[in-house]
Amino acid sequence: MTGEPFSADIPSALSNAIGHMRAAGVPDPVRDARILLARAIDQPIDRLALFTQGTMSDRQARRFADDVRRRVNREPISLITGRKDFYGRSFAVGPAVLAPRPETECLIELALAERFERVLDLGTGSGCILFTLLLEQRTPAWGVGVEKCPDALMVAMENRDDFDLAVPPVLHRGDWYSGIENALPDGFPSFNLIVSNPPYIAASEMAGLEPEVRDHEPDIALTDGADGLSAYREIVSGAPKYLIPGGRILVEIGHMQADAVTGIFRAAGLHDIAVNPDLDGRDRVVSARA
Ligand code: GLN
Repeated sequence: MTGEPFSADIPSALSNAIGHMRAAGVPDPVRDARILLARAIDQPIDRLALFTQGTMSDRQARRFADDVRRRVNREPISLITGRKDFYGRSFAVGPAVLAPRPETECLIELALAERFERVLDLGTGSGCILFTLLLEQRTPAWGVGVEKCPDALMVAMENRDDFDLAVPPVLHRGDWYSGIENALPDGFPSFNLIVSNPPYIAASEMAGLEPEVRDHEPDIALTDGADGLSAYREIVSGAPKYLIPGGRILVEIGHMQADAVTGIFRAAGLHDIAVNPDLDGRDRVVSARA
């Protein structure tokens, strides 16, 4: 960043930070500057107004300047703070996982509409879907999260340890269904529910993503490196074997993928195929039954 070192005077540090972030094209620089300032001075964001006229220590000013520099470099706020809220809970995140997205809450709502006893989450990442489902459902349930990337699996384990789950879910390192039998206690029971928010961005669309996503979120969580549909083919291929008859499968999709994904589901012989919108009214979740 250009210019003199960051000021310990909070009003000028704030306006300086907002200016730098705005110049870098950060979409909401005022909000982000406030979040990073609150973090620098170790205060909850809703108490920030009490401090905005004061000064910071040099250490706090340096921390603020460092964080603002990262945001200017278009690192997402969630990577800077290491946390992201999802469905009312805070999750640990990091460079190895996709940060939980609000549109994925729509998959949660749909999944919770029916009771389940055993749930399988394919490509669990931070574990936000799996843990939220297990924590939100009133009746006891058990779950398995499959994740291919070892560093992502560590993040999921950290989140699992943070939540008070009656029956801790199994976190299994694997590629979709391969080797999943080894992760299950007694043979492999079938599931009532399979969920996934797979990498669904086509390779050709990667360049057009926001820098926060393209440059700072893991490629493996975003894209299959092909047409954006290979994950659905994999997920559907195991559904007959791993779902009980009548069991449900719910996958998040890109908003233009409804036709392609319902086609894949239909070809696999799944029933009750439906396309469900998110809160913005865009196609977001395809659901079906075995
Ligand atoms: N299941 C995780 C989520 O929904 C990770 C998804 C992914 O990495 N594509 O956030």
